[in-house]
Amino acid sequence: MEKLRYERPIIRRLDSEMPNKFGMRTDYRPTTQIDGVPVKSLIDKFGSPLFVISEKVLRSQYRKARKAFTTRYPKVQFAWSYKTNYISAVCNVFHQEGSWAEVVSGFEFQKALGNGVKGSKIIFNGPDKSEEDLEMAIQHNALIHIDHLEELYTLTELAERHNTKPRVAIRVNMDTGVYPMWDRFGFNYENGQAWDALNKILHSGRLELVGLHCHIGTFMLSAQAYAVAAGKLAELAIGVQRKFNHTIKYIDMGGGFTSRNTLKGAYLPGTDTNPSFDDYAEAITTALLNADFSSEFLPTLVLETGRALVDDAGYILGTVISNKRSSKGKRITIVDIGVNLMFTSFWYDHKVTPAQEFTQYTEDTTLNGPLCMNIDVLRESVSLPLLNKGDNIVVHSVGAYNMTQWMQFITLRPAVVMIDNDGNPHIIREKENLNSVNGQERIPNHLDHFEL
Ligand SMILES: *Cc1c(COP(=O)(O)O)cnc(C)c1O
Repeated sequence: MEKLRYERPIIRRLDSEMPNKFGMRTDYRPTTQIDGVPVKSLIDKFGSPLFVISEKVLRSQYRKARKAFTTRYPKVQFAWSYKTNYISAVCNVFHQEGSWAEVVSGFEFQKALGNGVKGSKIIFNGPDKSEEDLEMAIQHNALIHIDHLEELYTLTELAERHNTKPRVAIRVNMDTGVYPMWDRFGFNYENGQAWDALNKILHSGRLELVGLHCHIGTFMLSAQAYAVAAGKLAELAIGVQRKFNHTIKYIDMGGGFTSRNTLKGAYLPGTDTNPSFDDYAEAITTALLNADFSSEFLPTLVLETGRALVDDAGYILGTVISNKRSSKGKRITIVDIGVNLMFTSFWYDHKVTPAQEFTQYTEDTTLNGPLCMNIDVLRESVSLPLLNKGDNIVVHSVGAYNMTQWMQFITLRPAVVMIDNDGNPHIIREKENLNSVNGQERIPNHLDHFEL
């Protein structure tokens, strides 16, 4: 074994931050490899920082989720939430597994088409669909989930103009006992607007009502909330069956399941408290099976799970730039991963592990990124061994939203690598270069020269 570097003993001032009855610690094992590929070799080859996605974890998460639902309910269909991570290789893993696409903009719709998803297997959500977007969706026979009355009227008019009957669902929001309620998307259940919208659609006869949709929130810590939501959508579907003798083909429960992350300020780590796929599946399928559907009219259950499928498959690797002490004496370690790449660090205490062996001394450390911004904090306080310049770290569960919400600020976005099932890394998104930014810019003639 390699002789470890001498570290002087330290006297540690006791800080009262983040107390926990288990004395929450960082996972005291280094993450030296991901799916058998050494972290150091990934950084040597592709640079630092670097996003890494495990195809193995993507597939196993998907299969786990699918199994939880298909063992409890006869008709289940997943649709990959593009905005959670729309790097094409990631989307295609889910499409290979049988997932449709769930998109929330014209851009995402085109990305799904580009990936080879048939329009009829694209669910089009979101509050801002332009007339052109809706025409594209109609042309491709997509499933259009109506968000508000203006959209319903535009769609009715387009249906008439094109002499077609677009396939639609409405998005419904409701009180599920979790607050604050997400009531700005879709039609509210309790105040009757959802029922109004259904009546307008069915009486007009110009749209083909095929589904009911909800997406009650994200990182939902309560599985029970889904049971409430499923029950309310079932009520609406049964109401439609009774009044119009019209069968709703699917009930779409959206996404929002948790990953293994820990919300900031949580008392216990997410790995201990977050519901499992089985918990969510049990809540949702029980509510649907117990509703008044006869077997022949049992709707297909659609799930648009994003975060729970991709988050734990994503890592970001980084390198230590320097160490310093704060005015209070607390250790600050600066790494090359900024909040521009880890938007989710504003909400989660992401697990951070060193990528090399270390000694037993640890210290509460603030982990800062490299940006010239005071808010560039990856972890306020995390127990870490002494890390030196050039050491590497691995941040866990960053596969959801970071690769779509990342910001191009001060520096360029790094490469994204996927490790396939056989342990081969593939670049799935190139590192950006100067032209990624300058290519979009135009300089007016009078500004293209100067003398200094
Ligand atoms: C964002 C979103 C999802 C996915 O949510 P997750 O929290 O990532 O599971 C699903 N459906 C809709 C309508 C969304 O907006």
